[in-house]
Amino acid sequence: MSRPLIAEIDLDALRHNYRHAQALAPHGQSLAVIKANAYGHGALACARALADLAPAFAVACIEEAQALRQGGIDNPIVLLEGFFQTEELPLIESLGLWTAVHSEWQVEALLAHRPRRPIPVWVKLDSGMHRLGFPAQQLERIWHRLLDAPDRVRDLHLMSHFATADALEPDYFQRQLRMLNEWAARLDAPTCLANSPATLAWPETHGAWNRPGIMLYGSDPLEGANDASRGLKPVMTLRSEIIAVQELGAGEPVGYGGRWITPAPSRIGVVAAGYGDGYDRHARDGTPVLVDGQRSRIAGKVSMDMLTVDITNLPNTGIGSRVTLWGQDTSGAVLSVDEVARHCDTISYTLLTGVLPRVPRRYHGGMNSVTAEA
Ligand SMILES: *Cc1c(COP(=O)(O)O)cnc(C)c1O
Repeated sequence: MSRPLIAEIDLDALRHNYRHAQALAPHGQSLAVIKANAYGHGALACARALADLAPAFAVACIEEAQALRQGGIDNPIVLLEGFFQTEELPLIESLGLWTAVHSEWQVEALLAHRPRRPIPVWVKLDSGMHRLGFPAQQLERIWHRLLDAPDRVRDLHLMSHFATADALEPDYFQRQLRMLNEWAARLDAPTCLANSPATLAWPETHGAWNRPGIMLYGSDPLEGANDASRGLKPVMTLRSEIIAVQELGAGEPVGYGGRWITPAPSRIGVVAAGYGDGYDRHARDGTPVLVDGQRSRIAGKVSMDMLTVDITNLPNTGIGSRVTLWGQDTSGAVLSVDEVARHCDTISYTLLTGVLPRVPRRYHGGMNSVTAEA
């Protein structure tokens, strides 16, 4: 027997969530965003599982794209931040990638490069996020310079990113959207604007392309769930087991620093999972976990390889009991990664991308419904 901690990845749920995203925005196409190792789920496995559904993938850098090509993925791949060095251009060409451009130097580099075939380019406008993108007053000049070089670039799209689409608070979001609509009309440009929250909650943002990320993995990015987000299925289940039980009297401290003290005689389950696996050390006392499908909670600080849960009220549990840290228990009970994130003062994105390589990923479902280990 080996350590019981694994991340189970349900590729059927991934395909369900992708289809759901596409159905919400039926007049455009949806990029599957699989940057950061598909938000911790394994980029190549996820790309293979979506290759027949998603007309293109999106990643953050050329290394991520290269790994997909080496794994046999031949769908178009968009570099969301473009290239970081001019030297990447020949590789962008030979790998057949599409690139964003957000800075003047990238435009100069593209126009100085002589590709054998023109490169598809997405021009990023800063509509209010104030992170990447051209300011509005530069957009028209940049757009026309690229448009005037059909031997170098093709398929120009207007791209932008929302700062507050998840908050369901419309003022700033509407300001960004108004500006984007104005520019899209003025340039007669096809758009790519919607991330997951905009895909789920703001149909008016849906364009020629959309860019769902976190929703593909079953997490709900909205401040309050809506009908669309309730249709998502969790993809990753982080599961382990109880490996020891402590029977303690009242007033006994548990774990480092004695943060949690037994209020009454208590049973404490010790679980094989810790921050050395990526489970967040910020998890407060009371962070939910499922033990044999029943709700329990963290009691005491998370250690590197272990964490402790209060199973006083779960008398039939003990050594060997199943622990679901997030995802779906074999009984069908679900603990959402979003709920766990709230107890850790973070978001699902950091928990999912934070699952470390020490945790084996086990895949099931997908196009050929094969079971594989990675
Ligand atoms: C990561 C990313 C996305 C996906 O965002 P989600 O909130 O995960 O849907 C979309 N667009 C850009 C530019 C990104 O970097």
